[in-house]
Amino acid sequence: MVTLFRSVVLSSLLLVALGCPGGQPPITPVPETDLAGCGLLGEPAGWDRTRTEAIVRLGEPVHSVIDAVATPDETPTLRAKLSYGPTSADLEGERVEGWIQMGDQCADWTRIGETLTDDDGRIALELEGPLPVGIYSLAVVALGDASTAFGFLHVLEADQPIVIFDIDGTLTTSDVELIDGIVVHHVGATSDEVFELAGSPLTRAQWLTILDRTLEPDATMHAGADEVVRWYAERGIQPVYITGRPYLYDGMTREWLAERGMPAGPLVLVQAIEEALPAYVDDYKERSLGELSGRGFSIEAAYGNAHTDICAYARAGVAADRTFIIGPNAGDACDGYEASTAIASYPAHLLEL
Ligand SMILES: [Mg+2]
Repeated sequence: MVTLFRSVVLSSLLLVALGCPGGQPPITPVPETDLAGCGLLGEPAGWDRTRTEAIVRLGEPVHSVIDAVATPDETPTLRAKLSYGPTSADLEGERVEGWIQMGDQCADWTRIGETLTDDDGRIALELEGPLPVGIYSLAVVALGDASTAFGFLHVLEADQPIVIFDIDGTLTTSDVELIDGIVVHHVGATSDEVFELAGSPLTRAQWLTILDRTLEPDATMHAGADEVVRWYAERGIQPVYITGRPYLYDGMTREWLAERGMPAGPLVLVQAIEEALPAYVDDYKERSLGELSGRGFSIEAAYGNAHTDICAYARAGVAADRTFIIGPNAGDACDGYEASTAIASYPAHLLEL
């Protein structure tokens, strides 16, 4: 018992220490200073719509705050998706409160305002801005049951250099895209065909079941992956995590990154579940990179493992010698583009950086 207690205390201390190298804030909110820890979370107020009772009975909240990225001359917006249960049933027409934490103390939380979810369970609240360069915690509260979700606003310099990291199969050793690959191999590459697996329709719910079985909260990290991400962060190059995981895996993904001491950085999750399918995931990643580079952030390098990564990075204009691919597809090319750069292992790659 004592040993267990000591290891819990030590790992908590380690997390705090790892989360704050050189003033770097943690990638997940610190519980003592999140809304609940600060006593700012009210009692459940009940739902405004009777229909909502049926939605919330479908399962646990799977709310997700979309990490916001802004420059010091932009007015950022807090966006979130609120839903329940394994198939992500939308919370529609219910009241949601938005908060931002301007520092790391309880007194630094500011209520942004209140709005209603739309018919897709989404909210948008414009923040008071612009804000200075920094990382700010964001929170949403579904007032009906006082359930919450957290995310971050990253205010970056207008010409901030960034580095892109895929997560599954790139930072982790397991890869949902390998399952995608199997599906594509058997049924072809068009989205309609992917949905029609072996003559039976692969429904959205079935797709989510596959994801659920594949994505592990404690997925093994590729040895040295954390050191490579930190190498960039320590040189002022902002890591951006762009994953093919849908928003339902927001909390699990943030915890995985935090527990491994990954530097803080915007987390970009798939917002339309269909876009996590292999026929769409490269478009989604290409678009995400394009949005970042289109705003003036320079992409110094991009890391991935899947063919969809190679094509997304190539089409988004990342140079082949800055496109680092690990695993079975390392060194492959997207049709019509130069071959990507293979990484044998992160410790070996670190020596070459
Ligand atoms: Mg991957």
